Amino acid sequence: MLEIKNIIRYEVEIYHVVNTIFRSCSYVVSQDGISWLVDCGDVDQIMPLIDGKLVGVLLTHAHFDHIYGLNHLLRFYPNVVICTNEAGKDGLFSDKLNFSRYYGDPFVLNQQDRVSLVTDGEMIPLFGDIKAQAMFTPGHSPGCVTWMVEDAVFTGDSYIPGVKTVTNIPHSDKLLAAQSEELIHKMIEHRSVYPGHAASEGMI
Ligand SMILES: [Zn+2]
Repeated sequence: MLEIKNIIRYEVEIYHVVNTIFRSCSYVVSQDGISWLVDCGDVDQIMPLIDGKLVGVLLTHAHFDHIYGLNHLLRFYPNVVICTNEAGKDGLFSDKLNFSRYYGDPFVLNQQDRVSLVTDGEMIPLFGDIKAQAMFTPGHSPGCVTWMVEDAVFTGDSYIPGVKTVTNIPHSDKLLAAQSEELIHKMIEHRSVYPGHAASEGMI
């Protein structure tokens, strides 16, 4: 008799939200009643997509168009952890570094204790055996982290297919951005890209 082996496939759902500010993208990543977010813009759009418990937010970087919903989100989910690196943390608490002060709606995160610092290459457990790996990809911003979850790669603004990486803003670094893009190209071989914007107009 033929023995049929079960092929175990990880079933992770990824929902895509295009936010109103600069058409930045947030993603809801869910499995079996547990959800994580990648970046946080329009909470009104994101909330209906969250399946069950929201555990945390993986930040691709702390420019305001990727973080402006966080205070609103924390009102509904006060226990979420916000995963970023040192430079990302600085951006969360400075409307100058996250650029929101120049766009008429200053934003700083109002809860210090929700931030969880990650190191380059660190694996964050998301669901069961499924982890997100934090790969530091500085250049567009010093706080850029590209997140790898199974065959999905969340690149933020470090790599947007068909769009030149923005490196003409304060604290960006053209050379670092090029090195990071090289790394990302290796990461996305045989994987899918989930970028930080749906369109490039006005993005930062
Ligand atoms: Zn940006």
